[in-house]
Amino acid sequence: MSAYRHEGGCHCGAIGVLLETPRAPDHQVIGLCQCGFCRSHNARAFRDPASHLTLTAHEPEQVRHYSFGLGVSTQVICGRCGVYVAMLMRDGAGLLSVMNISTLADRSAFTHPGNPSDYDAETVAERLARRRAGWMPARLIDWPELPILP
Ligand SMILES: [Zn+2]
Repeated sequence: MSAYRHEGGCHCGAIGVLLETPRAPDHQVIGLCQCGFCRSHNARAFRDPASHLTLTAHEPEQVRHYSFGLGVSTQVICGRCGVYVAMLMRDGAGLLSVMNISTLADRSAFTHPGNPSDYDAETVAERLARRRAGWMPARLIDWPELPILP
């Protein structure tokens, strides 16, 4: 189904990333969320409902979850090397995600300069609706328990 597979992870290897997507990396759109968290990591965000993200905890004790703002999602950060990997949100029985494209080994193939985006004014309902329309399904392998999310 997905023509392109991109692998990566955090710097120390505790968290593995696999992105499966139908489009070539130079045809993907990158988002530059303007919130303080994403700017402090200089994160290059990728989400696409036609793509799929797999996160593997090679060392589950290094997985850190961090939530802020509206508290409807959690950031995934490596506790050892500090890399910001992805953001997760529950959607019924499933999970939706946006990932940091800079965690991929072939990150430089994603040549889109990035669209700045500011979501600060959203209500919870607006935020959930936008994510359900635009985020990508995710699965977690050997993962520790997720924090309680709405
Ligand atoms: Zn790490």
